[in-house]
Amino acid sequence: MSGFSTRAVHGPVGGPAGDPHGSLRPPVYDTVSFAFASAEDIAAAFAGRKAAHSYSRITNPTVAEFEARVQTLAGGRGVIALASGMAAITTAIMALAGAGTNIVAARSLFGNTTSLLAHTLAPWGLETRFVEMSDPEAVAAAIDDRTRAVFCESITNPQLEVTDIAALAALTRERGVPLIVDNTATTFYLCRAGELGADIEIISGTKYLSGGGSSVSGLIIDHGSFPWARSPRLAEFAQGFGPFAFMVALRREVSRNIGACLAPHNAYLQTLGLETLALRVEKSCRNALELARFLQSQPAARAVNYPGLAEHPCHRLAERQFAGRYGGILTFELEDRESCFACLNRLRLIKRATNINDNKTLAIHPASTIFTEFSPAERQAMGVGEGMIRISTGIEDLADLQEDLAQAIGSK
Ligand code: PLP
Repeated sequence: MSGFSTRAVHGPVGGPAGDPHGSLRPPVYDTVSFAFASAEDIAAAFAGRKAAHSYSRITNPTVAEFEARVQTLAGGRGVIALASGMAAITTAIMALAGAGTNIVAARSLFGNTTSLLAHTLAPWGLETRFVEMSDPEAVAAAIDDRTRAVFCESITNPQLEVTDIAALAALTRERGVPLIVDNTATTFYLCRAGELGADIEIISGTKYLSGGGSSVSGLIIDHGSFPWARSPRLAEFAQGFGPFAFMVALRREVSRNIGACLAPHNAYLQTLGLETLALRVEKSCRNALELARFLQSQPAARAVNYPGLAEHPCHRLAERQFAGRYGGILTFELEDRESCFACLNRLRLIKRATNINDNKTLAIHPASTIFTEFSPAERQAMGVGEGMIRISTGIEDLADLQEDLAQAIGSK
């Protein structure tokens, strides 16, 4: 098989014949609906006897092209692209769990994911048990016969804890529960989640994939390792569709009904972004490592947190799991909220913005923004302190980033 970047640029080699006009970019099918030659044909499509696009909330050729490109890179049995990372997480969980069941999730997660589980889904009767993912005994103790999935992130945002996916997968497999890994921070370029044992991989395409914060998207990837007949919510689909039960349930019921579909134009932008994924990830990871080392040399910046630093508690694991790259997010601490605001307000090049893995380097104070809906005690428990600044490194020249940070934290 050809290499990652070749597949990213060319798509599946030996795949379907290209565009009739020789266009090197996929056409954008900006349409809602598709006409059929006969009533019998449209009935066959609705019955699932004929593969055809009928309505863009369910499938669309431009979105399907993006999904196929992702599948050649990430592997897996099936891929569905949705409107956002949060749409992907919500849709995946709603396809597996429901009232009276539970999800075992990491205590450290992206704030909106914690909020989804703790605030949005809880009133529907779904319990979430937040546990320390690095503690196998705690995870094992939280799983019972009503557990429908275990949910974690490859590198937690913004705590930057690295999850040992292979170890966790050994546990979830033994307990017969699907493992969902949000691989946004590392993507399938740095972290081969499926090969490590994740049953379902989630990606917010908004970040690295989009090619520079161009568009919002999300992905659900079924790695084909979980026997869906064991998932009570999917048992009926498993009878009809065997190993494809999860994907068919998403397409024909859950995703179709929730309706958080990806717009064709955004799918087009995401497909373009995929082509340069490897280059951008490599550069942003290099910048992150160098900036973390640089911040360590600045007396005002305390507790520099980056898995690429040798003293980081997860360094060895990250080195093994991500082949010597450590992602594009780092954090450091200043005295308090006021010093963080003053530092952020002095930035000239680095943007004050809430996103990660853009081409541009971005900085934010997580406690007053992404985690603002949580109480100080809850934030503390989630590892988000008042003095934390998060930096997401872009692909600029390192010296310019160093200069801007140095003057902003007051050491220049
Ligand atoms: N997962 C992680 C780890 C994230 O950092 C984010 C957003 O920052 C999301 C999911 C949500 O993605 P989106 O903004 O595309 O909904």
